Amino acid sequence: MVKTANLGFPRIGANRELKKAVEAFWKGKIQQDSLQETAKEIRITNWQTQQAANLDYIPANDFSLYDQILDTICLVGAIPERYQHKSGNVSLETYFAMARGLQKEGLDVPAMEMTKWFDTNYHYIVPEFTQNQKFAISSDKIFKEFQEARNLEINVRPVLVGPLTLLCLGKEKGSNFDKFSLNDSLTKTYLEIFSRLAEAGVTDIQIDEPALVTDLAPEILALYEATYQKISSKLADLNIKLHLTSYFADLGASLETFFKIKADSYHLDLVRAPEQLEATLELLPEAASLSLGVIDGRNIWINDLENSLVTINKVIAKIGSERVIIAPSCSLLHSPVSLEPETNLDQDIKSWLAFATEKLAELNCLKEISNGGSENNEYYDNNRAALKARRSSNKVHNDAVKTRMANLTATDYERTSPYEVRAAKQRKTYNFPLLPTTTIGSFPQTNEVRKYRADFKRGDINENTYNEFIAAETISCLKRQEEIGIDVLVHGEFERNDMVEYFGENLDGFAFTKNGWVQSYGSRCVKPPIIFGDVSRNAPMTVEWSKFAQENTNKEVKGMLTGPITMLQWSFVRDDQPRETTCKQIALAIQDEVLDLEAAGIHIIQIDEPAIREGLPIRHDKWYEYLEWAVASYKLSQSKAQDATQIHTHMCYSEFNDIIDSIAAMDADVLSIETSRSQMELLDAFVDFKYPNEIGPGVYDIHSPRVPAKNEMKDLILKAVEVLPIERIWVNPDCGLKTRGWPEVESALKEMVNATKELRDELQSKASA
Ligand code: GLN
Ligand code: ZN
Repeated sequence: MVKTANLGFPRIGANRELKKAVEAFWKGKIQQDSLQETAKEIRITNWQTQQAANLDYIPANDFSLYDQILDTICLVGAIPERYQHKSGNVSLETYFAMARGLQKEGLDVPAMEMTKWFDTNYHYIVPEFTQNQKFAISSDKIFKEFQEARNLEINVRPVLVGPLTLLCLGKEKGSNFDKFSLNDSLTKTYLEIFSRLAEAGVTDIQIDEPALVTDLAPEILALYEATYQKISSKLADLNIKLHLTSYFADLGASLETFFKIKADSYHLDLVRAPEQLEATLELLPEAASLSLGVIDGRNIWINDLENSLVTINKVIAKIGSERVIIAPSCSLLHSPVSLEPETNLDQDIKSWLAFATEKLAELNCLKEISNGGSENNEYYDNNRAALKARRSSNKVHNDAVKTRMANLTATDYERTSPYEVRAAKQRKTYNFPLLPTTTIGSFPQTNEVRKYRADFKRGDINENTYNEFIAAETISCLKRQEEIGIDVLVHGEFERNDMVEYFGENLDGFAFTKNGWVQSYGSRCVKPPIIFGDVSRNAPMTVEWSKFAQENTNKEVKGMLTGPITMLQWSFVRDDQPRETTCKQIALAIQDEVLDLEAAGIHIIQIDEPAIREGLPIRHDKWYEYLEWAVASYKLSQSKAQDATQIHTHMCYSEFNDIIDSIAAMDADVLSIETSRSQMELLDAFVDFKYPNEIGPGVYDIHSPRVPAKNEMKDLILKAVEVLPIERIWVNPDCGLKTRGWPEVESALKEMVNATKELRDELQSKASA
């Protein structure tokens, strides 16, 4: 009989109960017991939901109060010294201190670093390893959760991140050493964990080794083989079955290594990499099972059940149904919990969607049919009918958009003149001082601003009242910028909740959920829009407020748009056409907006692309293909602007040194880019690479409430002056200021402007001396 498995279920709770409890705990509003009680309720609900879906393998230890890598760090006892953990189990206080830092009673310990989990929007805590790293089991979470399920008579399969993925994700701290030298002692601790799991009665374990889908050196692959010889034989001794998983991409050069590991089942992501199935069937060890990840864990569309059955049946024919497991492609952590609350969604669109809970039902349907059940059932029929409707729906397909796309030619991507010509015209038109100053767009979103927006959305205040408030905020924001002495002003973005949602709500082809939350990091969740159809813009989206701002100051006001790559990257996207096509459709909608802003008298327009790096494929050999269409999409959005219109772009959240040539190829007139947190590490890229256009390396870290001193910023600007031509340097913060408070923002910007003015004077007198 074919079985079903799930690799992980969303742990935020149906109504983000975890977020609320964790944040209440941090604020001291609830005690630890009550937090643990909420956590337990979520786990139990999740297990019961999965049990009701008739799953054969239900995960445990997929729950986390913050992050599963942080949990693993605690499990193996890799607690960095600064948290002063002595021995025994890591306390909850230490756990959260590692996640968020701790300021208390004169103590000031920074948090551990956090970064993106492969190519997802989920962030994990980065393990830190030292040369003399010791490991010891320092958390009983995995054992307790297994017992908890057991008490409910639910048989679960604990999930563990594998030792080599843990090492791959970690960072070496301190002296020169190789983190992989810790592998032996880390593995020893894993073996102890397995023994304890066996004592607890565990019969099956899922070990995730997603690092295998990254580009690994041959030495690391060899390490995999050696390590898993120990692990497999230990698990065999303990009578625990090993279910080894890979996900997010094809195994590529790791494929043989993967199957050399002795496991009871092997999981493949057949959504991202269906092509690897053939080779896999050849390599699958005799008697082992294959776990077919046919249901997309990373997106929200219903599965093509008919198609999946073709794959499943093919595998059954080859290895027999006893050895087949059906599963989502990866953990369902990346899907919202359930479609049930989405009562406002268009009924057609809703019928095309499956969130985590609905995906479990799909799994069950596939299992029943694979095991001889009839295809003549309502569920299966509905699935086929919905897919058919989606393929031809006029909600999805817009001929005007398709025609416009089909008529694009190479010149549509280029601005009329090259940068030098544009820059000369722009210089003459705007006559900015040396080192012009600007900001990234948003200004503090105070509680009052948020309240007005929420009240307006709920209908508690009318449009007039709301608009008057936003107008007053905008004018006051402009005045403050004028007083501080900034050269290029912004309107402040008070009318925007979120830089993607604001545009999505004004574009055709986007839908929004009420409750489609997905964990981003810790207690933070995001609610990505759903791009379901051809994207187009039928009315201006930002012109009114930008124009209003421009009419209220004599300085230039920069229009503010979100770029196509970022909108694509932060949404659930269509799976019925290439991402490239969707991205270019969004680009055309932004292009329309650029032209309308220009016509309304806005001469400077910023198109933000903070997410460009996030779109990079996991495997290096696929980077080029992505960067090519991503850059082209961005260029399409700005290309029709007149020479004298100055187009800015902005990037943040990551390191850009390795894609700096693609960033330059975007050909924005001015790029503002995050650098201050790394003390301008970015500038290293400019020693070898001559960035051709204007650039504003951020001089003020907006992620912290700290006000940077004038001289600090002067030093950073001077660092930039060493490697970039001064007439092409701008001065600006790292990112938007919406999360900060007004007092600190005003002080910091004053310091920034003063630093710039002093430098201008110093450089002037140097030049005339
Ligand atoms: N213009 C946006 C802002 O200032 C940019 C935000 C971002 O880069 N994430 O808020
Ligand atoms: Zn930013």
